[in-house]
Amino acid sequence: MRKYKTVLKKEKEVAKTFCDLCGKRDRKDGFFPGGSGEISFGYGSTKHDGAVFRLDICDDCFDKHIAKHVEMVSNWIYPPEIAKFNKARRKTAKTVI
Ligand SMILES: [Zn+2]
Repeated sequence: MRKYKTVLKKEKEVAKTFCDLCGKRDRKDGFFPGGSGEISFGYGSTKHDGAVFRLDICDDCFDKHIAKHVEMVSNWIYPPEIAKFNKARRKTAKTVI
């Protein structure tokens, strides 16, 4: 049997979010105009095996630097028509850049 006591623990929570590329920060309403993700490297990596990197990136930097290199694997907000539009837009971006 265990007896428990109440303790106060310090926890970290996100106070502000900045784009890791351009430094743009969250809006006054607290929402960050972009996304976040983690990139994990495994055995095949010769430089970062076992490392996990976190990226916060604004919409503009994502469109400019990342979108043309990645595959969208999930889109839980937009209906298929919008996803098709986004896919077509990325193809256009490839030809422009
Ligand atoms: Zn940015």
